[in-house]
Amino acid sequence: MSGGWGQCDNLGDLNYDENINILDIVIIANIVLEGNYNEIADIDTSGTLDILDIVALINLILGDRLLTWPIDCIPGIDCEIGHADIDEDGLSFNCDSPGYTGHQGTDIGITWEQMDSGVDVFAAEDGIVLWVFDGKYDRCPDPHPDCNSPTSELGPGESDGYTICTELGPYCGAGDCCCFWCFAGGNIVIIEHFNTGNIFATRYDHFKKNSILVNQFDFVTKGQKIGEVGSSGNSTGPHLHFEVWGSGYYELAEPWAGPCGPNFDNYLWECYPPWNE
Ligand SMILES: [Zn+2]
Repeated sequence: MSGGWGQCDNLGDLNYDENINILDIVIIANIVLEGNYNEIADIDTSGTLDILDIVALINLILGDRLLTWPIDCIPGIDCEIGHADIDEDGLSFNCDSPGYTGHQGTDIGITWEQMDSGVDVFAAEDGIVLWVFDGKYDRCPDPHPDCNSPTSELGPGESDGYTICTELGPYCGAGDCCCFWCFAGGNIVIIEHFNTGNIFATRYDHFKKNSILVNQFDFVTKGQKIGEVGSSGNSTGPHLHFEVWGSGYYELAEPWAGPCGPNFDNYLWECYPPWNE
């Protein structure tokens, strides 16, 4: 990782005098929250410094903003972003064009040369690995069978072409029986998270063949390398498809916040990723 990534910078407005007071902390909170004063309205800035105020602010700052950037590249410098369109209105969160209408995650694209030399994918948050699928051909598009759409409808535990389905299990909602899910991402990791408010799980697609370093039910920590970017599955070039599930299995959430939604208020990143588009 390079150059100021994830440092929650811009602390230059702070008054570095000897005395810490609540206002200083509020300023820090505002910087981290990017000026969302509404969220800190409940903090009493007139009193003496109270540990509960600090705890409240830390919780507020960390609250749902828990995802670290899941790939070793910086948008606009050495990778490009194709945004999601979870509400299927044809617009990404920032009212721009999404990767495509109805796109369910954030695509982070690299070159074939970068893929060949290896670009790391990281767990965006602590969690437990729910599913791993690996071994599919990773230079799609290509006539290879692993790059084709399935030839028939798939059932639990089945795989054909670029699609893989989970077994039937307690995978409905936040854990009710009985559902299975099918994914078109070729080589895939899905991580369930705990105590993270609005983030149930994160999904990572299109890994390079046999690059995945984790196994099902492994515990992983935020920032841990889980594999390398590839172009397996339904993919037109090497990229990471990064998908967030909010309230349960396949309940899609948008980690970016903006005026065209569906997340209008609070982005889910721990620190706002660099933005050089
Ligand atoms: Zn995608």
